[in-house]
Amino acid sequence: MQDSLPLIGHIAFGIIDRGTNLLQIRPTTLCPLSCIFCSVDAGPATRNRITEYVVDLNYLLTWFKWTVKEKGLKCVHAYIDAVGDPLTYKYIVELVRRLRELSFVETIAMETHGALLTEKVAEELDDAGLDRLNLSLDALDSIKAKMLSGSLWFEVNRVVKVAEYITSSLNMDLLVAPVWVPGINDEEIPKIIEWALRIGAGKRWPPLGIQKFELHKYGRKPKGVREMKWQEFYAILRKLEDRYGVKLILRPEDFNIKRTKPLPLTLRRFEKVKVRVVGPGWLKGQWLGVAKNRVVTLVGSRSEPPIGRKVSATVLSAKHNIYVARVT
Ligand code: SF4
Repeated sequence: MQDSLPLIGHIAFGIIDRGTNLLQIRPTTLCPLSCIFCSVDAGPATRNRITEYVVDLNYLLTWFKWTVKEKGLKCVHAYIDAVGDPLTYKYIVELVRRLRELSFVETIAMETHGALLTEKVAEELDDAGLDRLNLSLDALDSIKAKMLSGSLWFEVNRVVKVAEYITSSLNMDLLVAPVWVPGINDEEIPKIIEWALRIGAGKRWPPLGIQKFELHKYGRKPKGVREMKWQEFYAILRKLEDRYGVKLILRPEDFNIKRTKPLPLTLRRFEKVKVRVVGPGWLKGQWLGVAKNRVVTLVGSRSEPPIGRKVSATVLSAKHNIYVARVT
């Protein structure tokens, strides 16, 4: 990463502000798994990605602190996530430790699918000050877990053991967050709920956060799977809540997430802008650009990126300071 590349503006790396007191920190796009339902087409089986990004630790922290200051936040929840798996980040423990040193960081949470999780890594993260691990575990059945992860080598039993070690021996909390893929792991969901409750997940926060499978433009869709409607999804969650006496429909308040002043947009939708091309894009047909202190995804060109040149573009979207512009 070049120092001249802002870490606000891209969905795949850097800092994401959605107008609350929680900031997403995305240090890497890499993932060892190839989940068959992956909404961001990650891992070895990717079909759309042409670049993976890994962000320098100091640079990431500089932009995190800058964002907190720009937003005028006194306290912030740091949430480490990725369009991949944060555990692939070589400096993940150091990142947590450095975040912990910042007096304005209220909580630190991280999500993972657990493929790279070991007892040692869990201990190191705990010592560094991680408050909560959101573990996406989509099946307890080992064959089904291999199938869902698109990775024959993936051993869910190993992940289960580490999860049980976390709840029994470490300070950090565990939130189990399976992705429910209708028709594929329906029978696993109640088993996962029972297991999460049995092992004592959710000491400080809710123990479970069941995720709805959603189709995305560049995501993977397993054959024959239909997307559930939100209404249907919540109706089933309500029934499961009654059956197990546990909260499954989560709200921002459950994590003390509050609306705050968003980071100002520097580019507006439909604005015509000159963008400096700085590198290859994340997905096919994209370039990476910089304009007005934001990183911009440039779409609409199949050729090699003319690095260093300024091109004219029209901003297509600017929501949450994530910018996509079409080269004109
Ligand atoms: S769902 Fe998560 S763990 Fe699975 S391939 Fe996608 S990014 Fe990786």
